[in-house]
Amino acid sequence: MSIQSFNPPVRTLMGPGPSDVHPRVLSALSRPTIGHLDPKFVGMMDEVKSMLQYAFQTNNELTMPVSAPGSAGMETCFVNLVEPGDKVIVCINGVFGGRMKENIERYGGIPVVVEAAWGDPIDLNQVADTFKTNPDAKMLAFVQAETSTGALSDAQTLVRIAHQHNALAIVDAVTSLGGVPLKVDEWGIDAIYSGTQKCLSAPPGLSPVSFSQRAVEKIKARKTKVSSWFLDLTLVMGYWGSGAKRTYHHTAPVNALYGLHEALVMLQEEGLEQSWARHVQLHHTLRAGLEKLGFEYIGRDGARLPQLNAVKVPAGVDEAKLRSILLNTYNLEIGAGLGSLAGKIVRIGLMGQTCNIRNVMLCLSALEAALPQARA
Ligand SMILES: *Cc1c(COP(=O)(O)O)cnc(C)c1O
Repeated sequence: MSIQSFNPPVRTLMGPGPSDVHPRVLSALSRPTIGHLDPKFVGMMDEVKSMLQYAFQTNNELTMPVSAPGSAGMETCFVNLVEPGDKVIVCINGVFGGRMKENIERYGGIPVVVEAAWGDPIDLNQVADTFKTNPDAKMLAFVQAETSTGALSDAQTLVRIAHQHNALAIVDAVTSLGGVPLKVDEWGIDAIYSGTQKCLSAPPGLSPVSFSQRAVEKIKARKTKVSSWFLDLTLVMGYWGSGAKRTYHHTAPVNALYGLHEALVMLQEEGLEQSWARHVQLHHTLRAGLEKLGFEYIGRDGARLPQLNAVKVPAGVDEAKLRSILLNTYNLEIGAGLGSLAGKIVRIGLMGQTCNIRNVMLCLSALEAALPQARA
């Protein structure tokens, strides 16, 4: 038999990403493809840039979506900013901080690791002490919202500590953008990367990034060429920069950018503060229900993400079986634990469009029904 068109099932996405994509965004994706240098398309790109500046709360000129997923935004930050021999203090409290360290090493930097237990936020005093013993550190890198554990670190203070020691701050905001307060200019973040498939609720495949003037100056002062051609910002700026002539660098993912544009229009319509408030409010509703069912949150009070609920399953419950019942019976996806938390926790996402009361109710009632069947 010949292979037929692919029609995915309709799921509710309550994992660590991707999140539910609104029909308005799906419809925008299916609009006619036009040339990526077409004046109409270029006009839309300018709007994407200004809406990203709003989402990041920045006036940074160098703000744009990298044409690849969040991991490519991460690489863009490190490959451009880290020169061989640069010392970088990197905070690790889960999977994604570990990837930052990998990047630093691969681009010839010297990582100095500040570690926190999985589930905990980054310890501010420990970072300040590490700067004291490493006064030559040029950068600080950390994850604001650690998706593997649900921990929220104090980005504002971490950036302040970096600046007190004349270092630039590189921030992973893949899960935080749109879901929790994030103010790039007010906090002084120098380089930041995010993704489209978490709290922005566009499909995966693009990575919004933004760079401060100080970061741009460090890149311009490089003694060595950026070792990636595709991610070299000095070349990409000719396409996305201000007053850029939009010369050909690579073919922009035209339809994917329609999708991001629509998702950002929806974020603007709701308002950033309202979006942050919605995530907190529904997190409290979900939390009350989960605790009633016997799930226990990991992490610390005051340092938990509303959009990523990492909970221990009740004793005697097989978490893999639980997730499989939810998926197969209720078309509901939730996430597994990673690393040392695999098999012990589940991760319930309330990101972007997923974060609504219908989904909270669906999740709680599906869990209640599935729990007796998932006992090992
Ligand atoms: C999802 C995620 C990434 C990676 O993004 P991709 O789009 O999967 O490449 C990086 N950091 C954090 C904190 C994430 O949650």
